[in-house]
Amino acid sequence: MPSPIAIMWFRRDLRLNDNTALAAALQSGYTVLPIFVFDREILDKLPSKADRRVQFIHDALAHMQVQLVGFGSSLWVHYGTPESAFEALTNQFEVKAVYTNHDYEPYAKQRDTAIGGWLSAQEIDFHAFKDQVIFEKKEVTKDDGLPYTVFTPYSKKWKAKLVPERDFAEQQTEPYFGQFLKLPVREIPSLESMGFVREDGVDFPSAKADHSLMKAYAQQRDLPGLRGTSRLGVHLRFGTISIRQLAWEAYPLSETFLNELIWRDFYHMILWNFPHVGEGKAFRKEYDAIRWRDSEADYEAWKNGQTGYPIVDAGMRELNATGFMHNRVRMIVASFLTKHLLLDWRLGEAYFAEKLLDFDLAANNGGWQWAAGSGCDAAPYFRVFNPRLQTEKFDKQLVYIRKWVPELNSFSYPKPIVDHDFARKRCLEVYAAALKPAQ
Ligand code: FAD
Repeated sequence: MPSPIAIMWFRRDLRLNDNTALAAALQSGYTVLPIFVFDREILDKLPSKADRRVQFIHDALAHMQVQLVGFGSSLWVHYGTPESAFEALTNQFEVKAVYTNHDYEPYAKQRDTAIGGWLSAQEIDFHAFKDQVIFEKKEVTKDDGLPYTVFTPYSKKWKAKLVPERDFAEQQTEPYFGQFLKLPVREIPSLESMGFVREDGVDFPSAKADHSLMKAYAQQRDLPGLRGTSRLGVHLRFGTISIRQLAWEAYPLSETFLNELIWRDFYHMILWNFPHVGEGKAFRKEYDAIRWRDSEADYEAWKNGQTGYPIVDAGMRELNATGFMHNRVRMIVASFLTKHLLLDWRLGEAYFAEKLLDFDLAANNGGWQWAAGSGCDAAPYFRVFNPRLQTEKFDKQLVYIRKWVPELNSFSYPKPIVDHDFARKRCLEVYAAALKPAQ
């Protein structure tokens, strides 16, 4: 049998630099086999076989593979379940330890408990690290040790706890790249072999933090007609950039940008401490009593950008065409679905989960529950966005709207599917009826 090894199990941290688990694995004294599992538990549930997220992962793995081959090593990529991957690996290698980074989603927690248990039965150590957020779990709590449920005090405590030189410090991997196991190059399974198709001409956003954008971020981030936000969401989602490096760069340039990264930590912290939000339940349980309407026609009109509300339609069309939607517009379309159409926020959450390139359960759930009023620190339910006023404020020249709704002034553009004043009144009544006993 060849000499003992450690495994680095990549999941949503697809990079070789500044990676906490990888740094620990490479310094463990063992040679390190880097692996990735195309998990059928996840892939088999995806509704479309032209999924850009899977394509993004595949490209990121191919990029890592080029680097690893340069060190005489190779990624070991498995298509199947994590269990079957580890069975195959332990048959082939003398595995002493597995290194990985924390993942806070309900499925991932369950998976890691099962795999950790299985490995320990084989006397293999399982080491997991914080890597995808700056502060996790219960690192930032109220003075009584309970988790925050309101963002502003959370962010104050987050900043008070922060020691940038420590919390943003690079996790050194480069000096140890010689520790990767030398092995012949293994092919990464093609997208086609896993039942997916590659979409040609997809242009993923760059992984570089744009410093001039960050400096103008506070002034420009709310204007969807400008390129005022970083588009780094997908890279943070799959770890093709390090959150520490990004936060380190943003820190002296833009407090507003740093604040958004703190929102990201906040929602991951919420998901960890209040797992019911990841299981389809409202953060505030009384909101589960709302009597949502049931209208397939309205849901379809919303999905297809055919509501007759130009800012809503522009957003949904941007999402359908590119997998991205500007944050301001995400808030508007989410408010429109839940309050104007009075459709269950979970329908919107599911549609975003299917379409967003940067889909992240914690942030998506947080955003939807914020819009519906059911979340922690949510918009109060009686505040119903007026799409016309939002347009005047954030897309006055109709730059964004005209891009996505070119037929705006023609006969082919639909009439509003619901009247604003009527919808607002209906929303307030239905919410009030559901929430009355709890107030
Ligand atoms: P930038 O404005 O450049 O911000 C930089 C990074 O900060 C983002 O990439 C993201 O990681 C983080 N961030 C910014 N705003 C938020 C926020 N409000 N909450 C949490 N993190 C934030 N974000 C996701 O990453 N995945 C989602 O699935 C997601 N779904 C959302 C659904 C709704 C209904 C709403 C209102 C917001 C959602 N967001 C989600 C938050 C936000 O809209 C996106 O993070 C942002 O638009 C991504 O674009 P960007 O990378 O250009 O962001």
